[in-house]
Amino acid sequence: MATTRYDVSREELAQLVSGPSYRVDQVWSGLYDQCTEPEAWTNLPKAMRVDLAEQLPGALAPVTESVSASGDTVKFLWELDGGSRVETVLMLYRDRATVCISSQAGCAMACGFCATGQAGFTRHLTTGEIVEQVARAVRRARELGRRVSNVVYMGMGEPMANEATVWRSVERLHADFGLSARHITISTVGIVPGIRALADRPLPVNLAVSLHAANDTLRDELVPINRRYPIDDLLAACNDYLAVKNRRISFEWAMIDGVNDRDGDAAELAALCRRLRPRAHVNLIPLNPTPGYPTRGSSLRRVHEFRDLLESLGANATVRQNRGTEIDAACGQLAAGQPVTLGRTGAAGEPG
Ligand code: SAH
Repeated sequence: MATTRYDVSREELAQLVSGPSYRVDQVWSGLYDQCTEPEAWTNLPKAMRVDLAEQLPGALAPVTESVSASGDTVKFLWELDGGSRVETVLMLYRDRATVCISSQAGCAMACGFCATGQAGFTRHLTTGEIVEQVARAVRRARELGRRVSNVVYMGMGEPMANEATVWRSVERLHADFGLSARHITISTVGIVPGIRALADRPLPVNLAVSLHAANDTLRDELVPINRRYPIDDLLAACNDYLAVKNRRISFEWAMIDGVNDRDGDAAELAALCRRLRPRAHVNLIPLNPTPGYPTRGSSLRRVHEFRDLLESLGANATVRQNRGTEIDAACGQLAAGQPVTLGRTGAAGEPG
């Protein structure tokens, strides 16, 4: 795979850029402050810009950009070297702007209710492919008069199955885009060795765990990787992460009608939250529709009852604001236009 412009380190760039050493600073600033294309770096001689554009191509070819009716969610579809496609979502809130980025093309985790899981795994992304998603979103946000404040690794793929590459991208976000670790969140399906590797890394990034079930029988079914890393092992890794990072972990819980939204599920979940020090915070996500999963999401009324129940059992819970459903940009809906396997008991809709 060709080296792209957000793959190179500053040292590697210094090898490529001729002339006085401030040229390297100018290029680096073009990449990480301006977040623009080499053509726009007019403080550099024209010939140099042309050379740089050729030597350091971008990794993401834009395919489409979709904007929600309200204008506060933008979904980008990119094509990568080799033809795989991935998506990035920019979400504008009143007090912050968050970019949701992909770490793999497709996903091997096969969670049945997730559109990415339904489509299967294609390949890991490179550091440059991950970092450039942020650069593009920063640029787009700026055009809208906004500044990206948060990055979440909650797009396509399982970041902890690609931990070393993901980590190199985190370092870039922190050192070069100037994002604090507190504003970076990695979400994992629960890959225990990945969580342990992350615990050994220096920055205290936020960890979110896609739990969805609080006993192994149900979790084996909803999140198949649970058979390899069951709940007790997962919780032990989470507690070790907390012990070194001094952060709170959140559990994500997609609310599925009659499957994981019963009173008993709330009781089991609250008990698991109490096993983490400090206690885990629960993010309830109303299940978003995907073509391959016929079971419905819980009603909004039930989602709020479930939250109240968790609170009464001593667990903190919030309902995640649903963003971008109408442009298939919400949690679990990213499939990058790939056909997905239809549900076991028949189609709930047409493949995207
Ligand atoms: N693979 C990582 C990163 C993806 S984050 C992980 O699993 O954590 C995307 C989040 O959306 C995860 O919590 C995922 O479980 C959740 N999700 C998947 N499908 C969903 C759906 N249909 N509705 C709501 N949330 C969903």
